[in-house]
Amino acid sequence: MHTPSDGNGPMKPKAKTLFARRILPSMVALLVAALVAAALALIHIARHIDRDALAQSQFLASKALQAQHDWMNRSIVDYAFWGDAYRHLNGQPDTDWAYTQANLGPSLYKDFDYEAVLVINPAGETAYSVVRGKLQPVDSHEYLQGGLPELLARARTAVEEDAGVSSLLWAEGQPALVAAAVLSTGGADVEEIDGPSSVLLFVDLLDAARLEEIGEQYAIEHLRLADDQGPEDGTGITQTMENGSTIRFTWTAPQPGRLLLWITLPILAAVALGLGLLAWLLMRHALRSMHLLDVSYARLAASRSALAESEERFRDVAEAASDWIWETDDQARLTFLSNRFRQITGHEPKQWLGRPLLELLISDSAALQGWLEAPEITPLRSSYRAADGCERFCRLAARSIQHDGKLVGYRGTASDVTEETKAQARVQYLSQHDPLTGLPNRSRLRDYLEQNLASLRSGSTMTLLYIDLDRFKPVNDTLGHAAGDEVLMGVASRLRERTRDGDLVARLGGDEFVVALHRMSEDEDIDRLCNRIIEALSAPFAYEDHQISIGASIGVALAPMDATQANELLRCADIALYQAKDAGRGTWRAYGRDMDQRLHERLRREEQLRVAIAEQHLEVHYQPRYLSQGMQIIGAEALVRWHHPTHGLLLPEQFIPLAEETGLIIPLGRWVLHQACQQAASWPVDMVVSVNLSPLQLHDDRLLDEIAHALRENGLAGERLELEITESALLQETQSTLELLKRIKALGVHLAVDDFGTGYSSLTSLRHYPFDVIKIDNSFVAGIEQSTEDHSIVRALIELGRGLQMRVTAEGVETEEQLRLLTDDGCTEVQGFHMSLPMPAEELRRLLADAD
Ligand code: C2E
Ligand code: CA
Ligand code: CA
Repeated sequence: MHTPSDGNGPMKPKAKTLFARRILPSMVALLVAALVAAALALIHIARHIDRDALAQSQFLASKALQAQHDWMNRSIVDYAFWGDAYRHLNGQPDTDWAYTQANLGPSLYKDFDYEAVLVINPAGETAYSVVRGKLQPVDSHEYLQGGLPELLARARTAVEEDAGVSSLLWAEGQPALVAAAVLSTGGADVEEIDGPSSVLLFVDLLDAARLEEIGEQYAIEHLRLADDQGPEDGTGITQTMENGSTIRFTWTAPQPGRLLLWITLPILAAVALGLGLLAWLLMRHALRSMHLLDVSYARLAASRSALAESEERFRDVAEAASDWIWETDDQARLTFLSNRFRQITGHEPKQWLGRPLLELLISDSAALQGWLEAPEITPLRSSYRAADGCERFCRLAARSIQHDGKLVGYRGTASDVTEETKAQARVQYLSQHDPLTGLPNRSRLRDYLEQNLASLRSGSTMTLLYIDLDRFKPVNDTLGHAAGDEVLMGVASRLRERTRDGDLVARLGGDEFVVALHRMSEDEDIDRLCNRIIEALSAPFAYEDHQISIGASIGVALAPMDATQANELLRCADIALYQAKDAGRGTWRAYGRDMDQRLHERLRREEQLRVAIAEQHLEVHYQPRYLSQGMQIIGAEALVRWHHPTHGLLLPEQFIPLAEETGLIIPLGRWVLHQACQQAASWPVDMVVSVNLSPLQLHDDRLLDEIAHALRENGLAGERLELEITESALLQETQSTLELLKRIKALGVHLAVDDFGTGYSSLTSLRHYPFDVIKIDNSFVAGIEQSTEDHSIVRALIELGRGLQMRVTAEGVETEEQLRLLTDDGCTEVQGFHMSLPMPAEELRRLLADAD
């Protein structure tokens, strides 16, 4: 997920987790500790109480036994120190008095629970014995164990202090409290018997019931004789028997502490349970509310991150768009500008915040104000000055911001439409201008003429110069379009230099230019300007290492004299131009009525040529070619002638340019090729026919097929046909030309470079072409006798041909001397009037027959 980058950092730990991990365990621990502490304190207190209670019960238990001792001591003293008892029991016991009269009989058992009442005489015999309320003889020494003699001895000592003694003894296997006192008169008026007196014993048998009873009197519960082990809690008291051995009593010790625990611990537990339950409920509630808190926090975080995400998305879109976003208050003062503003305008947003939007824009402020009144309807196109000072264009779209129905400001985008606006301006410009030279084009010229001709005031004139470049086509054809373009641009700038600002210089396409001037109806002015222009355009143009020379012809038409309509005026100037061209080029002609005539003448000639080709008014003459050694005819060049119905026989110079201009050269060339092949078929088999190819034919797709067809149709071997291509035509070094030449060669056909030496080519470029023959131009041959320079050129050309392993033919050989020089220089083949003029086919055949 996307992490919000607004500085909030990572998401906080969940409240619930925090509560569950830290707060909850400490709370529980605290509670448990409190409860445990309370329980421990309680146990401690209970123990303490129990200890106190035990101590007290011990005290009470011994107190209970002591009280019994005291009671028996007192009781035995009462009976023993009683005169009647002394009288009736000392010496021979009076059973009747003692038992029957119940002075010392069953009542003691019944009332005091004494197990036995015994009287032991000084001889140690048991003189009186009542056991369990019944008179029955027992031997005291058998009945009482564990220190009876010692007890009797102590009783005899105690009597001197008028006291009895008591002690613990065993009776019938059970502990018994035994009290003993020597019988005495007790101060009564009773006759004393000499000698020792008998001893009275009361036996209180401490059986279980009796011990229970004794204990109860002191709230000692379940007092009893202890087992051998004794109770684990250490409850008990130890009593010494008369004979010194010990006996231990125990009881059920009161345990108020334990009781307290028994009562309070469950309460405490219940409280703990209740508290736990309460805590659990509280916790559950807390956890639940914390969970809700967490959920709402998570929701908050999610919604915040969604918000951040959408903000970022908005920002991305805003920044990625070429638009900048703006906001203003109700006074249209800027309150917000997006970052794109800086990137697009170069201005710092903070410099503009607070300033009116209208201050930024270069626009009519009333229009802007009007737009802001209802900005939703249409966007506003405006411009402004960027920080770099350049004017930029933008399209503003806006929306008013309302709060409670009140306008509080505006908000919108500004799309940069500078490029679009410039492109539109460029399209507009291009539609009116020539892209190469930047001059107005034909459409702009027409608009201009129409406007100006319509508003031509009386007395004022307008002069139109229609300029056509001479020899421009070969530049394009031979040096390529880049050279042609260079020349055209040079022409445009020279024309502008020689005209005034108010004049219009336009290019109509190709090598045609027009200059429109607002003055000059005088012939001398026109003459001066036209000559200046012709002179300027005739100066060579430099292109790479070439000096290109062209010329110009100008046709002039005047408004309103010659025409008042733009098209009409242009047509007049065009006609004048033809006249200038016909007059030998490099000159100017003003439109006159007779010019129409001349134009019609030219059109008629074109038509006538078309007919001549179709109806075969053409004828091919053949000029033989000779071996310079031995003057043997080795071939002939086909040269076309036109039998004109009115002008008679026309030479190629008079119609080939027209044929090339009109494209008629293609059918014409085709016809010559067929004628030549047909003728050559009848010649000796070692003779070759040469046919001239126009550069235009090299661009004809059907050429290869036609050559093959001509050879096949006439049964002529490819080797017997030679095609002559002018050097200048070759300079357009295209891959397709080379390809075509190779294919032609593949038919066996020979190739010759015609007019060699006149072209601009670097001679070595010939190496790339598959040529067999070089034909040195007439002009060089003509000069070899007079000019050593021409002679050395010819020699160099011959050398070059040899170096490239080509045959060399010299053309235009008119004299014996020329022939000799050429032969000496190593030229292998010659052609010229000196040997033979071009002649009709029939004538050549005769010549060949004669030679044979
Ligand atoms: P080119 O190819 O240089 O042809 C040789 C021209 O030199 C011919 O002129 C010929 O009559 C002329 N000539 C021959 N010997 C002499 C001489 O001793 N002295 C002088 N001064 N001239 C001589 P022509 O027949 O008037 O042809 C002129 C040009 O027309 C040819 O020049 C060739 O470029 C073109 N041409 C002729 N026939 C055809 C054709 O069928 N097709 C094409 N495309 N061009 C042709
Ligand atoms: Ca030729
Ligand atoms: Ca030639």
